[in-house]
Amino acid sequence: MPVVSIKDEHARPAVLLNPLEGDPTDADSHIGGPVLWPIDEPWPVCDGTTHDGAPGELPFVGAVQLYRRDFPELPFPDGTDVLQVFLCTVYHELPHAYGPDVRLVWRDSTTVVELIEEEPEPAVQEELYVPTVNVLEPIRYAEHPDKVSGGTKIGGWTAWWQSEPVEFRCTDCGAVQRQTLSLATHEPSGDDVEWVFGREGNLNVFTCPQDVRHPVTVHVD
Ligand SMILES: [Zn+2]
Ligand SMILES: [Zn+2]
Repeated sequence: MPVVSIKDEHARPAVLLNPLEGDPTDADSHIGGPVLWPIDEPWPVCDGTTHDGAPGELPFVGAVQLYRRDFPELPFPDGTDVLQVFLCTVYHELPHAYGPDVRLVWRDSTTVVELIEEEPEPAVQEELYVPTVNVLEPIRYAEHPDKVSGGTKIGGWTAWWQSEPVEFRCTDCGAVQRQTLSLATHEPSGDDVEWVFGREGNLNVFTCPQDVRHPVTVHVD
């Protein structure tokens, strides 16, 4: 019978995305590159209700794209093989964040036949939230709560930097959410994406373990 020590129980699998400047296509995992988006599906739009300053609706901006073949650790719903992360790149007053809002799209890439010709560009953006274009060279490891990386990663633990640890619950079903993605101002490699969250901290996305399509919590620390 396998024996699991308390310490091992606290280790969580994590993957540092390890962005590096590059020239990805919509068929690649990346940060800041082109998104695989079908021509016949409306592009995601932020309704602007939580904007601080920016007026009205704005199109989201494709920020991160992660294919299942590269990141099988992500909780892909059945029948999906790519996670697309969008940011609305202006200031929002969210319950647990002052910064960009986030939209996740879990997609089946095999159903995308014809691509959108041009991704819509918002009329206004905060330069702070616009990423440079990067390919990813992931680094896999087990993360312990007492040794938490502050880099851009999936899985692992939250790097509570300025706020005290908080437990977030799904607003649909009440389940305790888990951090799925963290976007970092500073990468361990030193090759920063050149976006800045909070006071040079992280933008963390918490998802529902029952259903990742339930509303997410955005947390900036
Ligand atoms: Zn917005
Ligand atoms: Zn839920």
